[in-house]
Amino acid sequence: MMVGRKFLLTFAPAVANQPITQGLWRNFDITVNILKADIDESGGRLVIEIAGESSEISKANEYLAANKVRVEELKNYVRRDTKKCTDCGMCVSICPVKAYVMDTSDYHVIFHLDRCIACGTCLDACPPGALSRGRSSIMSI
Ligand code: SF4
Ligand code: SF4
Repeated sequence: MMVGRKFLLTFAPAVANQPITQGLWRNFDITVNILKADIDESGGRLVIEIAGESSEISKANEYLAANKVRVEELKNYVRRDTKKCTDCGMCVSICPVKAYVMDTSDYHVIFHLDRCIACGTCLDACPPGALSRGRSSIMSI
């Protein structure tokens, strides 16, 4: 079954210059889409979406781990406390990928976590503090 999953890759300075990401395309039967890149020779982060068989994605993650890349799946990057949320709409205006949408039928904010690219912008911007860093699974370090 084909699945698309998002991962945050963190590169230490020692491996930031190496062509590790290219190996994903070359070595595995997967489709890789880079959603966000913030990396230079001093290290950094990539947010990627991988589509493919689960077994191939697992192998790709093992390959990244073997190359000292930290891999975190972004299933729960942001957690919204719906009891604290006041539907103020601040997150709707700042999220770069429209993960938050105002339902104008009842002015209720809907959160599409699957659209999140882990930019982190919303985490400190919520006036009542309803947004926090969720627990994502660390695949490897
Ligand atoms: S910024 Fe916070 S309170 Fe406002 S709609 Fe978003 S989650 Fe709710
Ligand atoms: S972390 Fe960034 S991309 Fe994800 S929901 Fe918040 S603002 Fe949107």
